Amino acid sequence: MRIVFVSTSVGPLGSGIGGGVELTLRTLAGGLSKMGHSVTVVAPLGSVLTLSESNSASERSGIGAVRLMEVAGALHVPSQTRDRSAPLSVPANSVLQNMWHRVIELAGTERFDVVLNFAYDVLPFSEADAIGVPVTHLVSMGSLSDEMDLAVRSVMTTHPGCVAMHSRAQAETFGTDVASGVTIVGSGIDVERYEFSPHAGDDLAYVGRISREKGIEDVFAVSAASNRRVRAFGVMEDRAVWDAAARAFPGARVAHEGFLSTQDLQRQLGECAALLMVHRWVEAFGNVAIEAMACGVPVITYDRGGPAEIVQHGATGFVVAPDNVDAVVEAVGRLDTIPREQCRRRVLEHYSGRAFAGRVAAWLGSLARR
Ligand code: UDP
Repeated sequence: MRIVFVSTSVGPLGSGIGGGVELTLRTLAGGLSKMGHSVTVVAPLGSVLTLSESNSASERSGIGAVRLMEVAGALHVPSQTRDRSAPLSVPANSVLQNMWHRVIELAGTERFDVVLNFAYDVLPFSEADAIGVPVTHLVSMGSLSDEMDLAVRSVMTTHPGCVAMHSRAQAETFGTDVASGVTIVGSGIDVERYEFSPHAGDDLAYVGRISREKGIEDVFAVSAASNRRVRAFGVMEDRAVWDAAARAFPGARVAHEGFLSTQDLQRQLGECAALLMVHRWVEAFGNVAIEAMACGVPVITYDRGGPAEIVQHGATGFVVAPDNVDAVVEAVGRLDTIPREQCRRRVLEHYSGRAFAGRVAAWLGSLARR
């Protein structure tokens, strides 16, 4: 297949502003091209797409190719920072609009079989018919905006099958009618990018954007109550939330380590005793859970959204009642009962980038132009 990816409009690929969708896009571009499909990625100016060694090898042998096309324009405000009833605003000279214009131009000069939209925004749903090529949508977050809910629901009526999501829990946030019509593709990572680390240090880890919905307050609360240091990796999206948590829990020791490349992140994450996932929203999937497990790091998660479908309680980590900091602290005390190699094995067997790309290819193949 000749596939066009349209990236998120909230930040360039590689910036971390887009969150898990950046990793998802990279994994799929690499995985689909290794299967022999050609992939054109249309993304905001400044995007970087570092594919793995094995991708360069397959490109050299003539299998699949990934082409990145950068498009200038104003970035969009992420939906999770807005009220759910607020209309999604389109900035002047919108990068999303510019990316879709580029796709329309491309479709006029080259033959494509299918377009895959990664942006959590209504515009790709309304632009879809202007392209003349089937458009599919991989929705990266749960329900956050009334306008987006409407767009998802309506495209599922006019173009059945064209929406995929990462987990059952994510799909259900849009309503049971939507959940029954979407394709669940899970997620995956290029496991070879993550080194297994057999020995744990004392520190705990948090990985993700620093924001309210990711539960930064509870990260501080767990640190204070367990007397363990937490290393926090990720983009500082909301400094006010971080500062308020630091004031509320003066006994906490939480160090912000910044946003690291996958290579550096996996090295530092591998030294940690566990990953904390104490989110307030319904996490759509939680790529960071499988990234941690690939390094041999168990995950302690609230029973809320995708991570609770990934973590096997007592085997690869602990699933505890949502918002229950004491239960997290208690699980921290039982981490030595989790064999780290079991975490790694689970990712190899269930969350490889290859298997993920295979599921997405099957879904795209069922909708692509013939
Ligand atoms: N991430 C990273 N470096 C860091 C911290 C985070 O590359 O220092 C990436 C991480 O690999 C993951 C993403 O940021 O892919 C966070 O994704 P997740 O799905 O957990 O959350 P989202 O932000 O999409 O809600």
